[in-house]
Amino acid sequence: MPETSRPVVIAIDGPAGAGKSSVAKALAEHLGIERLDTGSTYRGVAAAALRAGVDLSDVEGLVALARSLEIDGEGAVVVDGADVTADLRSAEVNVAVSVVAATAAVREVLVDRQRAWVAERGGAGVVEGRDIGSVVFPHADVKVYLTASEEERAKRRPDEGSAGVARRDRIDTQRAASPLTLADGAHLIDTTSRSIAEVAEEVLSWL
Ligand code: C5P
Repeated sequence: MPETSRPVVIAIDGPAGAGKSSVAKALAEHLGIERLDTGSTYRGVAAAALRAGVDLSDVEGLVALARSLEIDGEGAVVVDGADVTADLRSAEVNVAVSVVAATAAVREVLVDRQRAWVAERGGAGVVEGRDIGSVVFPHADVKVYLTASEEERAKRRPDEGSAGVARRDRIDTQRAASPLTLADGAHLIDTTSRSIAEVAEEVLSWL
């Protein structure tokens, strides 16, 4: 395993249920750096909008919520002073988040916050999402695109179900603003029948 004395950014993208969070956690633990789940920033804005009754077509309202978003090292998300962490994975947020994430003006604000989060940690982090290697950190030390069979990914999201996962992935890949895509220079890994440790080890070998 390589020793990393310099700050390292690892970008992990891929569709829902591809194993991003599990692999990111293993990598962060191994490297002794923090992990940022950028999905929780989009989920946080969606959750706060639902709570406050901000219409999902109200771009200014959504942008104001995004500007107020705070995220700590433990993954707690506070928007407009309210801790929305408990709502992040609700069925309503699973649906609303696709609309929030397709709103370019919201993405602009959240991408800034994601970059600031890494800068505040000395320029190091394992960052996971949909546009990390393509937009947020195009010069990351390692870029990874994880995927898995549709069946396996649905199995990993039992609450959301295969239709929900397929719907979200379709919107994420087809939207105009920073769609999910294999970034230039990204390593593609199919995690369908591989262990988290195995995948993490392969990623570390590219550092
Ligand atoms: O990763 P997670 O499934 O929690 O992400 C929820 C949603 O947030 C995704 O379906 C996508 O619409 C959006 N997202 C995004 N860009 C990111 C991370 C998440 O558009 N970098």
